[in-house]
Amino acid sequence: MDDLVQFLHARLDEDTTAAQTAASKAGGGTWAAGTEHGKPWVSGLPAPGGYVVPLLIEFGYGNPDDYERAVHIARHDPARALREVEAKRRLLNDHPIQRETYPRPASGDKEVGGPHFPFGCATCHAEPDTGEVHGFGYCLTWKALTLPYADHPDYRDTWRP
Ligand SMILES: [Zn+2]
Repeated sequence: MDDLVQFLHARLDEDTTAAQTAASKAGGGTWAAGTEHGKPWVSGLPAPGGYVVPLLIEFGYGNPDDYERAVHIARHDPARALREVEAKRRLLNDHPIQRETYPRPASGDKEVGGPHFPFGCATCHAEPDTGEVHGFGYCLTWKALTLPYADHPDYRDTWRP
């Protein structure tokens, strides 16, 4: 049952490492795109007070589509990648996976709530007041945040939202 949780955390760790490594190189982690003499480029933005902007990528073949590619690369720079990882981790923290079956709270001598399930999201699958269970497994938040990694060899189609 923990497979998706471990899978997603591993991918987010990889994204973090890749972004931090790229940002540690000349040019830093905040990038911009532009053109010069018809050749698109991606470059790091200067640090505050700095004036050197190392060129990171220069498209040298004059393909008119390359400017859009340069813009796309710059929009997904390491700084953004790190912000996206942080946003995803914050979302996941708000959707803790319960590793035990849900307890059935008693109401007088009568049990309320749904059946016991092997696991589920404490936020999406259980009523906080009554403990009533609405579902089980990985909630949409976990499945949706895992979807960007659907091309990974360890991704399972059963995780698809
Ligand atoms: Zn959830």
